[in-house]
Parts: sequence; C-alpha cells; structure tokens
Amino acid sequence: MRIGVVGLGTMGAPMARHLVEAGHRVTVHNRTRQREEPLAALGAVRAETPGEAAVGADCVLTCVSDGPDLEQVALGPSGIAETLMAGGVVVDCSTVSPTVARRLGEALAAAGGGFVDAPVSGGSEGAERGTLSVFCGGSDADVAKARPLLDAFAKTVTHLGPVGAGQAAKAVNQLFLAGAYASLGESLVYAERAGLPLDRLVEALVGGAADSWVLRNRSANVIASRYPLGFRTSLHLKDLRIGLEEAHAAGLELPVAELVARLEERLVERGYGGEDVSSLARVPRGEA
Ligand code: NAP
Repeated sequence: MRIGVVGLGTMGAPMARHLVEAGHRVTVHNRTRQREEPLAALGAVRAETPGEAAVGADCVLTCVSDGPDLEQVALGPSGIAETLMAGGVVVDCSTVSPTVARRLGEALAAAGGGFVDAPVSGGSEGAERGTLSVFCGGSDADVAKARPLLDAFAKTVTHLGPVGAGQAAKAVNQLFLAGAYASLGESLVYAERAGLPLDRLVEALVGGAADSWVLRNRSANVIASRYPLGFRTSLHLKDLRIGLEEAHAAGLELPVAELVARLEERLVERGYGGEDVSSLARVPRGEA
C-alpha cells in the first residue's frame, strides 16, 4: 500500500516505523521537519507538507495532538484534502472529539475521500511494540481499506460504528483511566506511609483483583517518584475534557472524572503537564 503519515510524535513515529517495516511505501511529514530523519533513514520518503504526503496515497495516517491540529493538517492550506485521491482514506489515530471526527469525515466525503477515526490505546509502549488497541469508526468499506495499515501496529482493531464511534469509545477509555491513575497514586502513596515493601506489594496486587495495565506498567513510576512518558498529563486532561463534554451533552454527571480533571488541571498549573499521568501521585504526596 502507498501510505502517507502526518505527525511523527511519541505515537506517530513508531507507527510509521512499523508501516515501513511491514513493507508499505511510506511518505512522512512532520511540522518539525527533523523528526522525519530517522524514518527517512529506514526508507521512508520525506514530504514538505501534509498535502504532499497524501499525493498518490491509498491511506493517510494522521497522529497529531488535538482537534484544531487535525483540522489544520487535513483541511488547512497545503493540507491532505487538497491532494487526497478519490477513494483515498484518511485514518486518524489522534484523540479528538467525536464532533471533530464527524466534521472531518463530512468534509473529506465532499472531496471524494474516506475517513476512519481510529484512536488508539496502549501507550507509547504499545506503539513501540506494535501492540496497540484501535477503536474504529467509519463505513465498512473505509475500515476494510484501513485494516492493513492498522494491522501493522495493532494487536486489536475493533470497528464500533460510523465515523465518530471510535472517538466515543476512546473517550470511554480515558474516563475509565482517570479513576485508575488516581487510585494507583493514592493507594501506593498510602502503602509507602504504611511502611510496606512496595515491589513485593505490587507483585501481590497483580495476583489479585486489583491487577490492571496501569498497576503493571506505572507502579514503578509512583514507587520511584519519577514520571517519564508514557502519556503526558496535559494530553490526558484534553481527553478527559472531551469525555466530560460528551457526557454532559448526554445529560450525565461523572463526579470521579470531574474531580480527576480538576487534579490534572492543578498538575498542569504547577508545571507537571509534561509528565506521565501517573504523576497524579503528586497529589497525595502533597506536591500538587
Ligand atoms: P506528541 O508526541 O506531542 O506529538 C504530537 C504530534 O502532533 C507531533 O508530531 C507534532 O508536531 C504534531 N502537531 C501538533 N500540532 C500540530 C499542528 N498544528 N500542525 C501540525 N502538526 C502538529 O503527542 P503523541 O503522544 O504522539 O500523541 C498524538 C496523539 O495520540 C494525541 O491526540 C494523543 O492524545 C494520542 N495518544 C497518545 C498516547 C500516548 O501514550 N502518547 C496514547 C494514545 C493516544 P511537532 O513535532 O512539530 O510538534
């Protein structure tokens, strides 16, 4: 397949690497152009603009920070929509609101292209290892076209409905994780105060009902009081706001997620927004 990739950040760069390694013909573009260099060394072609990355592509993978960034690279000047060929499909792995996904899907359909919202879960480790879980929204035909691309870096690809359904599912994922990360910090900081041997305690917890991805993969951060990425707190807060906005629009109150969003706002205000979300443990430690 000919694939354009736009956005080579923590997630996009390893995704692009997996696409090259799977034998696809890959053209990459990143706003900060030097981030293209490692991919070019592996055999990818470099493009000067998002639009150039989309020329002749069967699919264009986007993985940028937020909704306005996605609309910029897709619909802005020298954007993907300017050059996407008829029948070409934009596969977006960013986390944005379902509303943005639907708006983009409509704009690309008007230009003769397809769109699949395909946000991912599994963190930077999942992207590196090619074991991400993908939540897809789109038509059956567009998801089928996106499938070989997604299979290059995903362990699980689940088609949940029309455009927007993937982002709604990702909002569910982020709402769920809000409580999980907050609980991880609170429980382990308490364990520390109780004088428990933390490494052995985590092994015991993993063997019981408290087992989870967050416990297995992020307890070491809390124990060491160091929060390397991972998934940055400011991005999780962005995702949580999407989930809360959608829930409020549906007439729901979600008190736990609302509290965690306020705690994450505090972390961001105190300069910890660039740390992994496990830095929520700073709250019970009295550091934020
Ligand atoms: P990141 O490392 O901060 O990378 C963001 C990427 O978006 C960079 O390539 C950046 O370009 C590009 N970008 C941002 N604004 C742009 C704009 N206006 N125009 C063009 N390019 C722009 O973020 P990430 O961790 O890869 O996350 C990317 C997306 O995946 C986000 O939506 C995030 O919520 C989601 N996600 C992340 C994780 C995770 O664990 N990190 C897990 C699941 C989902 P520059 O290099 O020029 O800044």
